[in-house]
Amino acid sequence: MEPQSSSETEKLIDLVAPQAAPRKYELVYPTIFVFSYLHAASLYGLYLCFTSAMWSTIFFNWFLYVLGITGVTAGAHRLWTHRAYKAKLPLQIILMLMNSIAFQYSAINWIRDHRMHHRFSDTDADPHNASRGFFFSHIGWLMVRKHPELRKRSKLIDMSDIYANPVLVFQQKYAVPFMGSMCFLLPTLMPIYFWGESLNIAWHVAVLRYIINVHASVSVNSFAHLFGAKPYDVNINPVQSPIVSIATLGEGFHNYHHVYPWDYRTAELGNNWLNFSTKFIDFFALIGWAYDLKTVPSDVVKARAARCGDGTNKWGW
Ligand SMILES: [Zn+2]
Ligand SMILES: [Zn+2]
Repeated sequence: MEPQSSSETEKLIDLVAPQAAPRKYELVYPTIFVFSYLHAASLYGLYLCFTSAMWSTIFFNWFLYVLGITGVTAGAHRLWTHRAYKAKLPLQIILMLMNSIAFQYSAINWIRDHRMHHRFSDTDADPHNASRGFFFSHIGWLMVRKHPELRKRSKLIDMSDIYANPVLVFQQKYAVPFMGSMCFLLPTLMPIYFWGESLNIAWHVAVLRYIINVHASVSVNSFAHLFGAKPYDVNINPVQSPIVSIATLGEGFHNYHHVYPWDYRTAELGNNWLNFSTKFIDFFALIGWAYDLKTVPSDVVKARAARCGDGTNKWGW
């Protein structure tokens, strides 16, 4: 039967599981060129860290790494994509600034991709579909045009709350100059100005920090969808990965996260030492800037593990 209206068409699209249409790799050459340069520059940055970079430059970039990753985990991910807690305006601004240091495109783009990822996990409508293998889910998806299934279904994702958020709209509007300044320009100029680092070293260590931040974040899409245990749902791809949690400051307990995406801890193990992002949110909850933190009761989690899990414990072994 032919659908009668566009909304009926949309319902129909939503009901049919995304099909693996022929996969074409339409390369995006400018991105590949920039990525290649950044990777080569980051290797040189790594060499400089071991030979001539000042300790303050290395420590400064490590600090920016923590800020940037937390801007993604506590901001783009837990607050804005999943609405796992609420944040007052000052905290939203802080998170937007931190998110800009990570420069994983604008938060609005990130949120749309991530909502698609959860709704259409590991199908062709998932931006980093892990059923296409490690390289594609890790970084290959950033270098090719989006799959037609993804473009078709992206209009099924409700982004109205995001476009109504002036903090996120501001970041999107000035994305390249603003985020470029937060991620590259200021982190290069500050070590030169404040402690006399050379331009060569300041730039390459900043690029190294950026590349490590990208690989840590995308390892949630690759490693944490491919290699590990499934204590909460044996029928989905996402797994528990403590190592990814170390790199991403708390986002590696991914089997749990795909079962309970609204839990602000992104793990059953809310307050463990691998979950700095949770401690960050807890701190702001203490001063009242974060509120309505959502969690899942332990007995519900235990019952779920007994019913659907693979019998491993919550750490995934
Ligand atoms: Zn995932
Ligand atoms: Zn998520």
